[in-house]
Amino acid sequence: MQIFPKIAALKAFLREKKANAQTIGLVPTMGALHAGHLQLVKSSKSENDITVASIYVNPTQFNNSSDLAKYPRTLDLDKAVLEKAGCDAIFVPDNAEMYPKKNSVSFDFGSLDKDFEGKSRPGHFSGVALVVSKFFNIVEPDRAYFGQKDYQQFKVISRLVDELQFNVLVKCIPTLREPDGLAMSSRNLRLSEAERKKATILYNSLTEASTLIKNGQSLAAIKETIRQKWSTSTGIKLDYFEAANRENLIRLDNVNDAASTILLIAGFIGEVRLIDNLMPG
Ligand code: AMP
Repeated sequence: MQIFPKIAALKAFLREKKANAQTIGLVPTMGALHAGHLQLVKSSKSENDITVASIYVNPTQFNNSSDLAKYPRTLDLDKAVLEKAGCDAIFVPDNAEMYPKKNSVSFDFGSLDKDFEGKSRPGHFSGVALVVSKFFNIVEPDRAYFGQKDYQQFKVISRLVDELQFNVLVKCIPTLREPDGLAMSSRNLRLSEAERKKATILYNSLTEASTLIKNGQSLAAIKETIRQKWSTSTGIKLDYFEAANRENLIRLDNVNDAASTILLIAGFIGEVRLIDNLMPG
């Protein structure tokens, strides 16, 4: 596995692969890798000749400086697991390489980035779109892999590719979970033992809501049940629990068609903000 801190060297490596008609799969990550990330690498390896993973904690997508400072960084371990997973190259730029000038470009995705994560983290998706656009220009991948855990991010990237006519196919890979249902996330590393136990409330809320939808309960009643569930435990705080149309991410007042619905949740477990989602039908 080759390690590239510099854009020029990565491009030279890829130019040679492309000249030999080899296809390129890109897996963008912020490191602190877990088995969920490796699912993306596995998918890329099965569909492309060459897999490139990027490890870069992108400052422009953080609207909270403490979240950025405390984001877990485990580069040596990450390199070892990517090597073992059969990744061909990793791109590990620093901020000077990715942002030689202070950025002035920003993105607006209309209704797609105004609610949920976009509402709770203003500017987040603009920063994500900016760095992913840079990755697409640098790597020019045939396919790029994103996780369903960050479903709103996947929809934003899909729109970015569509509107800016990037020549890449974006793929959404199902969320990998711990045995107790908690979605794997780099931020889970920041949870204390007690918080880790409490963190199952995200997935439990989603599965309970999904069952209640199947039983025909109103969305208003379900939201109240979930709010109550969070209020009975200390040290946790529900940010949002909502149902939305899974294509346009417009919030729903009622769930009339579970097959076109997605349930989205975010909450603080101690200081750590976690998100998850589930398709109820
Ligand atoms: P991150 O390093 O958190 O930015 O994540 C990099 C990519 O891995 C994103 O596309 C995430 O959606 C995806 N990802 C994160 N957690 C999981 C998971 N538990 N299962 C599948 N994909 C994931």
